[in-house]
Amino acid sequence: MSSITDNIKHLLSEVPEGVEVVAAAKTRTADEILEVIDAGISKIGENYVQEAVAVYESIGKKAQWHFIGHLQSNKVVQVVPIFDMIETVDSVKLARKIDKYAKLNNKIMSILIEVNSGREPQKNGVMPENVEQLIREIAPLTHIKIMGLMTMGPFTGNPENARPFFVETHKIFDHIRKLNILNVEMKYLSMGMSNSYKVAIEEGANIIRVGTKLFGERACKYE
Ligand SMILES: *Cc1c(COP(=O)(O)O)cnc(C)c1O
Repeated sequence: MSSITDNIKHLLSEVPEGVEVVAAAKTRTADEILEVIDAGISKIGENYVQEAVAVYESIGKKAQWHFIGHLQSNKVVQVVPIFDMIETVDSVKLARKIDKYAKLNNKIMSILIEVNSGREPQKNGVMPENVEQLIREIAPLTHIKIMGLMTMGPFTGNPENARPFFVETHKIFDHIRKLNILNVEMKYLSMGMSNSYKVAIEEGANIIRVGTKLFGERACKYE
């Protein structure tokens, strides 16, 4: 058995039912991604449009594709036709552009709102106090469906340090859900990566995005 297959067996044995794994596949080849799919993971996360387009050509609809990187507005035209979910929407301007291309593609684009739970100025995502306002502005767009929230949290070696940021994002998630905003379905809370997914699941994540722990270490240019 290959190590990717072993890694996935091990991960899936630790992940409770109802929690979905997105394999974060930046820098990985189509063959590696196919191995992940064969081992039972159907959701693939990509950060870079160029890479995604390339692997999509050989894999296509064998997977569901989640966009998990920072989405530049001039790349929306390429992302909308390929992806099943965009996890990183953090502005009305970006949402409007996605809505426009979704309409042209005859699809309703599922999105998550990315929350900058660490309030880090250099990071993407909407500040926690602005999430509700952003969702109220995006909700009326006809070719977008808001399906939940995503957060990265500050990167630290110790996953316990991420816990308060996951807790805060979960609170916002519950708050928005109770508002019952039309066209908003608070179904997914995407939090946690290789070093923090256990803490994230404890704090309510039902999507985790795992790369290194499935594929092995990445080349350092992306770290
Ligand atoms: C790379 C990446 C991950 C996974 O990171 P690992 O530490 O390799 O598990 C998760 N989410 C996002 C947005 C990423 O870019």
